[in-house]
Parts: sequence; structure tokens; C-alpha cells
Amino acid sequence: MREYLLSGNILAGEDFDLVAGYIRIRDGVIVEVCEEAGSVDSDAHGIVMPCFVNAHTHTGDSVLKDPEITDIASLVRPPGGLKHRVLRETAAHDLVRAIRASVCDMAATGTCAFADFREGGMAGVQALLRAIDGLSVAATILARPHPPENVDEVGPMLGLADGIGISSTNDYEEGVAEAIARRTHERGGVFAIHAGELDSTDIRDALELDPNLLIHLTHASPDDLRAVADQSISVVVCSQSNLLTGVGLPPVEEMFAAGISVAAGTDNVMFNSVDMFAEMRFLSSLFSLSEQQVFGMCTRAGAVALGLNCGAIVAGMDASVMVLNMNSHNLVGAKNILRSVVRRARVGDILFRARRAVL
Ligand SMILES: [Zn+2]
Repeated sequence: MREYLLSGNILAGEDFDLVAGYIRIRDGVIVEVCEEAGSVDSDAHGIVMPCFVNAHTHTGDSVLKDPEITDIASLVRPPGGLKHRVLRETAAHDLVRAIRASVCDMAATGTCAFADFREGGMAGVQALLRAIDGLSVAATILARPHPPENVDEVGPMLGLADGIGISSTNDYEEGVAEAIARRTHERGGVFAIHAGELDSTDIRDALELDPNLLIHLTHASPDDLRAVADQSISVVVCSQSNLLTGVGLPPVEEMFAAGISVAAGTDNVMFNSVDMFAEMRFLSSLFSLSEQQVFGMCTRAGAVALGLNCGAIVAGMDASVMVLNMNSHNLVGAKNILRSVVRRARVGDILFRARRAVL
């Protein structure tokens, strides 16, 4: 049995209320969250917070760090977009090495779990599994058939992957996206799809497929958002990526107003690093949201969307937590802890991170 205490200012519960005290971790699980006015003999002392959940990535792009950013279709649209041409030319071991570097970067920047849209069929899934071997970041693998019409690959892939994550319905021949969604649902996998990134033309088609997870919704109308809320679908927004690719910004405030659970993702590694501190800071600068909303997008909302028992400091949850140094040059003197974390915390403030975050 391994047990330890972390103490200080705890961002506790699903609303991230500040509690001065300690948490007790036993065998990788938070077993106690305790208010304690006096000093506690703990293993690390500072701002105790849940680790991040990065709810949408394409780590395969890690082989391509700095392309010139032109229009998004010529960069990422399958099958002729730049990333797909580069991926076809990349040797398997180079792909694995590049993905592993990105997942190590996630661990170093306080992310405990991510959901990856893994291109390349079964071989792509196997590459990601090799890349994360032994690392303390949990992957939700959302695979896709390769080539797209190879829908028979869905079943075998779901033996290894958690679900299927596909491009826009506009990128598929008639009936193919429907067949992929049907097979995924039949086998109980997560079905995720991009929608509303370039324009709104694929949003209603995506909703017809009864997805568990919608990515982007950059161009969603109020009616679209009402339909998403009615179907209780989690949404992942990728704001920094959207701004970089020039498609505009998602209507995040309207999503919250509609009652949608909104998570955040860093999207393609070729546009954006996997650093969720940076994404959080970006979200807080761009949108009129509370600190709780922004912090929740980067932690608990992603965990809820992916069915993970983490993203908040609650007894019984996985101990996917880290401690920030409240005496760092950056954070010293912070009065509103959550606001300081959201607006200005960064990787250099990490004092301690639970080694094995999600088992
Ligand atoms: Zn994407």
C-alpha cells in the first residue's frame, strides 16, 4: 500500500472551491479531502489541483511540427491534405517516436489523459499503443478505418481502441459515415466526429449519427446548439487551433448558456503544442467565461466526456493531481488562487505530479 499526503490550497470538488487543508492518496486513489487550518506534514505543499484532460488531439501530426499554415483543407483534409501525405511517407518507428515525444510533453505539462483521433486504421492504433507504453498518461484511442470505406475494420479496431473518431461527414462517400457510426454503436464504442469546423454544412448530418462526442462546432447556430443540448452530446472545442487555421472561434459562451458540457482540446500537434496551461490561458483571454468554467473545460468536462474517473479532487477519484509552487516567481502573492491558475500558471510552476495518474 502506498499512501501520501498533499497539502496547501486545494481546488476541491467539481466546482473547484478553495479548501485549505490536505488530500490523502492511497494506491493511486484520492481517499480523503480534509480541511485543516494548521500545518500538515505532507509530501508536497502548494496549490493542489487536478491534472488536465486534453479532450482532442491528433498526435500523429507530431511528425510535422511547423508547416506553413495555409487553408485548413489543404493541410488536414483526407486523403490529399499535407498531413495525410506526410503520414503516408513516414516510417512506422519515426511515427511512434514522434507520438511518444508529444505524450511525454503532455506528462511534463500536467496532462493525465487525452483523447486522440488516430488515423491509419489498425496500424495507427498499434502505433499509438507502442508510443504510450510505460507512460503515465492515459489515452482514449478514437480510431478510424483506413481507407475510410473499409468499415469491416471497425470491429477489430474496437478490440484495441476505445471508439471511432472520424473527419467531417463531408469527407465521406454517401453512406460510409453512417455505416461506421452504426458499427461503432453496435459494439458499444465511443463515436466521435468533427462537425462545424469549416462551415455549418456538416452539423446536422453529424447529429443524425448520434455521436457521443462532437469536435469543434465552430460554426454552430443557436438552433444547432439547442439540438446538441437536447441530445446531451459533449462538445470539445479547440479554440487555439481554430484561430490559427483561420476558421473563426467557437461560440463557447452560447454553448454554456445552452447547457452543453464543453471540454477543451489542443487539436493537431502540427498547429499547436499539447500544453494545456497554454490552452487554458488562451480560453480565459478569448471568452467571457468564469474561472470555474475555463478550468472545468480543461479538466473535469473532458473526463466526463471520455468516461474517466478524474479531472476533479473528490474522494474516490483517481489521484490524477499535481501541486503548483505558490511561491514561484510567477505565482507568489496570488490572492485569487483559481483565477491565478487559469490566467497565468505554467509548466514551470509544477512542483509535484502524481507519477501514475490514471491506471
Ligand atoms: Zn481534430
